[in-house]
Amino acid sequence: MVEVKTGDFVLPGDNLATVEEFFPGEGVYEEGGGIYSSSVGMVLIDVRTKRISVFPKPKTPAVLKQGDVIIGRVEDVREQSLNVSLGVLRGREDRELPAPKVGTLHVSRAHTAYVRELDRLFRPGDIIRAKVFGAQKEQVQLSTASKELGVLVALCSRCRSVLDKEGSKLRCPNCGSLETRKTTDDYRQGVL
Ligand SMILES: [Zn+2]
Repeated sequence: MVEVKTGDFVLPGDNLATVEEFFPGEGVYEEGGGIYSSSVGMVLIDVRTKRISVFPKPKTPAVLKQGDVIIGRVEDVREQSLNVSLGVLRGREDRELPAPKVGTLHVSRAHTAYVRELDRLFRPGDIIRAKVFGAQKEQVQLSTASKELGVLVALCSRCRSVLDKEGSKLRCPNCGSLETRKTTDDYRQGVL
């Protein structure tokens, strides 16, 4: 006889009750006459309807701080800055990123050298590795001014194919377009 109460904290697979005692509700599953939790969360028992549910505990979003490394996608490139949608926080790929999931990379923090045209270093659709330079509530400032930071995977600006590294440039295997980017020193080696 399993005895669970409303408010109990359970893990996936925990046996909560039997089908003779309760009806399975949300967040649970039935197997061999037993009712089990399908998520991490809190048990809710409705004695009136005889329904047992598990209210899943939301995953705590990761908190971004200075020095964190993120993987993101370039959304648009302007003269002085570019917008990046933040994908994952390196080392905490299981965690959701906090809102807003966008960051800004200012031209002054794009490269160790002086940058005249930001669109020679980044193009929309590129996947980049960047460091968090500053993170306030509504604003995440990024930096790519070091050799392990920059474009991890670049897309051809003409046909959207993935570009191959060719010396200090990138070439499109599909249309032959020759482009430049601020690539990481491990461009397209598959490491986040
Ligand atoms: Zn192309």
